[in-house]
Amino acid sequence: MQYCSTRNSKYTVSSAQAIVSGLAPDGGLFLPESIPAFSLEEISAMARLPYTGRATEVLSRFLTDFTREELAEYIEKAYSRVKFPPEAVAPVVRLDDCANILELFHGPTCAFKDFALQLLPYLLTASLKKTGEHRTVVILVATSGDTGKAALEGFADVPGTKICVFYPDGGTSNIQRLQMTTQSGENVMVFAANGNFDDAQNGVKRIFTDQEFAKDLSGRGYLLSSANSINWGRLVPQIAYYFSAYCDLLNQGRIQLGDPINIVVPTGNFGNILAAYFAKQCGVPVHKLVCASNQNNVLTDFLTTGTYDRNRPFYLTTSPSMDILISSNLERLLYLLGGRDDQKLTALMKSLSETGKYSVDAQVLEALQKDFAAGCADDAKTAQTIHDTYAQDGYLCDTHTAVAVAVYRAYAQTTGDRTPTVIASTASPFKFAGTVLPAAFGVPAQGDDFGLLKQLSELSNQPAPAALAGLWDKAERFTTVVEPMKMKEAVSDWLR
Ligand SMILES: *Cc1c(COP(=O)(O)O)cnc(C)c1O
Repeated sequence: MQYCSTRNSKYTVSSAQAIVSGLAPDGGLFLPESIPAFSLEEISAMARLPYTGRATEVLSRFLTDFTREELAEYIEKAYSRVKFPPEAVAPVVRLDDCANILELFHGPTCAFKDFALQLLPYLLTASLKKTGEHRTVVILVATSGDTGKAALEGFADVPGTKICVFYPDGGTSNIQRLQMTTQSGENVMVFAANGNFDDAQNGVKRIFTDQEFAKDLSGRGYLLSSANSINWGRLVPQIAYYFSAYCDLLNQGRIQLGDPINIVVPTGNFGNILAAYFAKQCGVPVHKLVCASNQNNVLTDFLTTGTYDRNRPFYLTTSPSMDILISSNLERLLYLLGGRDDQKLTALMKSLSETGKYSVDAQVLEALQKDFAAGCADDAKTAQTIHDTYAQDGYLCDTHTAVAVAVYRAYAQTTGDRTPTVIASTASPFKFAGTVLPAAFGVPAQGDDFGLLKQLSELSNQPAPAALAGLWDKAERFTTVVEPMKMKEAVSDWLR
């Protein structure tokens, strides 16, 4: 199966090349030329497999220049017992009569990004080999917190790779910083950048566009690459867990084969919900995909009116991983719904970059609204939902998941839709203990992050994830702070 650019349908590459390149040369994103179809019988057969088997079935239909054996091996390694609990890679738990929670936070960094970033190193290194590349790949990441740690965990000690992460000095939570600075692995490096997230991000962009530096590194046997969320290799692993959720609901007797489900996703860059859309296109019976936003509700407005407008205030919320005004992966959906018309899509993206907004035509809006519903919840509503969900349903959810639960409840109320529903839970509540503790238990969030973690564990009677609790005992390995203008030199010296 070939992959084409959203901005030039005629530009096609193999799946391995799409993973190596990340972005098409014209700035477009890669999409499969056709979407594989799974019959209900095939889905039903997947229900008898463990998570790794289900993921192998899905990925082997998309990544056709890998053998099934290759993919099975990477998947076993990525989601192995040391990384995820063996019986609960992506468990589905009951919330109430209709709603279920798909827990995507049992990986090493306690957020759903582990599903993609545990697997990407294997896909990327194999893709490099398949495309004839022999240099050591150096992954550079600028992070505001979660992505950096997930990428470090994924690439740590993976042969043929090195990874370097820059985080804003003082711009992350204490837990997030320690998660990164205590990272083990011979091939990892972490720097604090003396600035904010934008400074770190711009520094990394400068390194990527420095041709001289690329040549210098190439002479030393290195190739720079990124683990950006628009890489197809990050999206495709996420499709698998929606198949898996359907299988689990079948196994639990919550649905019969063929019954439609709703899927609710707390959304930022539109990657996770796009994976759910792909699962639907592949044949998983889905009624509505519900896009849940926080106060940065640009997607709610877009899915309601057909106009995307990023010219609006930017809010820092208690669900920081969804504080985004440009949802990059939406480009893929617009291309598909616009009938794969690359010129029409290019015009929309040009309008977005020049004016910060665009409007889709009535046909596309109708197609959007057929598949998607949307809603948003502010911080007060989110906190209230954490409280109510714990008090009424006995379920402790994180801030991002709470946004999704709030939007789902409002959706079910206004539409009367009683379709069995899967709500994606994207992070462990312990990762956001500072908000979850006061919201669920009414106690003030006092003291440092570790104190909050302990308190949340005691009050909820649940153990804090070992990966977070274990940070207490770990030594910090990386303490260097660099000036944003000196990031290149820092990378160069590290690679000597
Ligand atoms: C990244 C992230 C999101 C947003 O996911 P997108 O794929 O960008 O829409 C939601 N919740 C958490 C906890 C995240 O880390």
